[in-house]
Amino acid sequence: MPHSLLRPGSTPPSPETLARFARIVGPACAISNPDDMTPHLHEWRGRYHGRAALVLKPATVGEVSQIMALAFETRTAIVPQGGNTGLVGGQIPFETGNEVVLSLSRLNNIRAVDPVSNTITAEAGVTLAAAQAAAEAADRMLPLSLAAEGSCQIGGNLATNAGGVSVLAHGNARALTLGLEVVLADGRVWDGLRSLKKDNTGYSLRDIFVGSEGTLGIITAAVLKLGPRPSSQAVAFAGLSSLRDVARLFAMSLQSAGPALTAFELIPRIGLDFVLRHGPNCRDPLALPYPWCALIEISKTHAEGDADAAASAILERAFGEGVIGDAVLANSLSQAREFWKLRELLSEAQKQEGGSVKHDVSVAIANIPAFIERASKAVERLVPGARPVVFGHYGDGNIHYNVSQPLGADTAAFLNRWDEISEAVHAVVLEFDGSISAEHGVGRMKRDLLARIKSPVELDLMRRIKDALDPRGVLNPGKLL
Ligand SMILES: Cc1cc2nc3c(=O)[nH]c(=O)nc-3n(C[C@H](O)[C@H](O)[C@H](O)COP(=O)(O)OP(=O)(O)OC[C@H]3O[C@@H](n4cnc5c(N)ncnc54)[C@H](O)[C@@H]3O)c2cc1C
Repeated sequence: MPHSLLRPGSTPPSPETLARFARIVGPACAISNPDDMTPHLHEWRGRYHGRAALVLKPATVGEVSQIMALAFETRTAIVPQGGNTGLVGGQIPFETGNEVVLSLSRLNNIRAVDPVSNTITAEAGVTLAAAQAAAEAADRMLPLSLAAEGSCQIGGNLATNAGGVSVLAHGNARALTLGLEVVLADGRVWDGLRSLKKDNTGYSLRDIFVGSEGTLGIITAAVLKLGPRPSSQAVAFAGLSSLRDVARLFAMSLQSAGPALTAFELIPRIGLDFVLRHGPNCRDPLALPYPWCALIEISKTHAEGDADAAASAILERAFGEGVIGDAVLANSLSQAREFWKLRELLSEAQKQEGGSVKHDVSVAIANIPAFIERASKAVERLVPGARPVVFGHYGDGNIHYNVSQPLGADTAAFLNRWDEISEAVHAVVLEFDGSISAEHGVGRMKRDLLARIKSPVELDLMRRIKDALDPRGVLNPGKLL
């Protein structure tokens, strides 16, 4: 077969091609030593372990552009990588060792913070935490927040259209994106770094690149929206007897606080018990073991009034109507952090309880209680004794429907049933017209599922977009589509 017809990544790049790549970034930033490559080849959950021909670390948009032009010319498969915190394997090369990893971590300049337009212009390799800090230094807030924020990067956040804990009030990464700079598959640079809220001049190219998981272009910089920093924040931890009550509490909170309701997170008893057992210095804020807990956060600016008063009013009404059994309102910043820690440690604590089959799904908020009940019945039928640990961003309809292995079960045998369990859970998601990937994306993990849940028309449109923007298939081949 002529080389030009081979699928990128199916054959190793020639030594001459690798040398040309290395010359673009200089020898110190073209890594071929296996030890130095290691951090780029394994992901956080230890599910995917890849190999690569080279890891490239460009420092400028010009270098990224030259790398893509060469990849296009030589049909070399490129795997873009940010902070390597993705949970679906999109940033990890395949096991063949024929792909080149393109790490954006050295493109890490904050180009501008504009407190008048309320925007920040950050390069792809800026960590989310560094972008938040730059906004804060200008007395503004970047309202995107996830537990991986110390490591994940703006480029990765946009490529995955990240969600997190601020979506309820501020939307996901896409909703915060005003402009983008993108290096295309053939090396050309699209400068779409506009700061405009309103711009109806044709197709929104920005929205095509956001959420494209490195399959359509390399995001090198972005203009993101900032908001005012809240002057007061209240965090409450409530215990509830049923999911129906959680639904009522959410409706009450939203009705009462409106856009000031910045988080409404669901925590199940079993998950809280895991955190109390395995987390450092964690304690239950409530006296009794309620089956469900909700973490409620209300944020207000000076002009909007006091967050504590707003939270107290919600809790009083919820007590009065018998919706909550107990609740505590944090009386200090450190207590608020303790409450958040109980939520943030759920995934980590679950690891200590053996194997866990994970799902990141969404359904309409009104359907959450029925979805959880039906999915749990399906899981129990399939694996008696399996322990659903169902938590997440209730206010976004986004549930992390994780299933821990039965007590005393063999971990490997349980994890071998991953596909079977997922199929049962996803079948219930689809009954409710939900999504099998609410915020983590598709990557490698859910690629085959996509073909089963998207209509032929939708898949055809997606493939045409891919063909138009990446005609030689050099960008993250085998991921997403
Ligand atoms: C503890 C923990 C908590 C998490 N919590 C959340 C959460 O609440 N919400 C949520 O949405 N996610 C969450 N995640 C998942 C992950 O943090 C996000 O998907 C994040 O946005 C990935 O950013 P990254 O820089 O690590 O990207 P990577 O993992 O490096 O890459 C992710 C994908 O984006 C592509 N990519 C990376 N950079 C670029 C670029 N510059 N241009 C084009 N493509 C690129 C990669 O090829 C890959 O397909 C969590 C992960 C962990 C480990």
